Amino acid sequence: MAGKLKQDLTESGKMPVLFIGHGSPINTILDNDFTRSLSKLGKSLPRPEAIMVISAHWLTKGTYVTCTERQGMIYDFYGFPEELYKIKYPAPGSPHTAGFVTELVHKVHVSCSYDWGLDHASWAILRHIFPKADIPVFEMSLDYSFNDWHPKPIQYHYELASELAVLREKGILIIGSGNIVHNLGLIDFHDIDVKPYDWGVRIDEKIKSHLISHNHKELINYQNMGKEAYLAAPTLDHYLPMIYAIALQGKNELLTFIYEDFQNASISMRCFQIG
Ligand code: ZN
Repeated sequence: MAGKLKQDLTESGKMPVLFIGHGSPINTILDNDFTRSLSKLGKSLPRPEAIMVISAHWLTKGTYVTCTERQGMIYDFYGFPEELYKIKYPAPGSPHTAGFVTELVHKVHVSCSYDWGLDHASWAILRHIFPKADIPVFEMSLDYSFNDWHPKPIQYHYELASELAVLREKGILIIGSGNIVHNLGLIDFHDIDVKPYDWGVRIDEKIKSHLISHNHKELINYQNMGKEAYLAAPTLDHYLPMIYAIALQGKNELLTFIYEDFQNASISMRCFQIG
């Protein structure tokens, strides 16, 4: 399988890695600074052979990748305008690349899933970045299993993600899709542009400074950042995709911010590109 992939994929130099703060699914149908930044981003990127999205919305016991050629749409949110539930992003899957990933990672056993499709961590952003939906896309899940009430440590995810680095040399665009600050309990559902919480801005800035200084250790041990870290990520699902992105950063590789702002008071929309 690995040999076949090498022949199939163009050796295209190192692909950038993205972290996209996806926020509310309503962004899919909005034209705002955030969505325009994604459209601009899409035009600046080299065309990938395939895209792998590490999704904040696919939490599993163990790690999976979607291995289907034709994948369904998942609308895992409630109470939004009807229009959102009709959106299609008909990109094909990439079973052979996903299969390659199952062989590539040695730290854990990565399995193929044939019943998950694209959730809005993928399609809500890809619709702006690659609107033609003509590049194969597949997802990777987050292992959200608990052991004695403890989730997998962040370091575990960081090490798993670092094994994916070779994909960049094979033209695969890896996107971590979550949000650095994501507190649903304190969200303002009615006003997307409302002033953010001061604590949110503070922790977002702190994380920004660690991203700039390549201080992955602090980002992995983010719970040491105090109470604000718990407010920023009361659960880890939206924080972890960012860990997958930074784990793929080369020693002296540049990290640039694509977008920074808040939505709905408690969601940081910060996005960045590595490479
Ligand atoms: Zn989300």
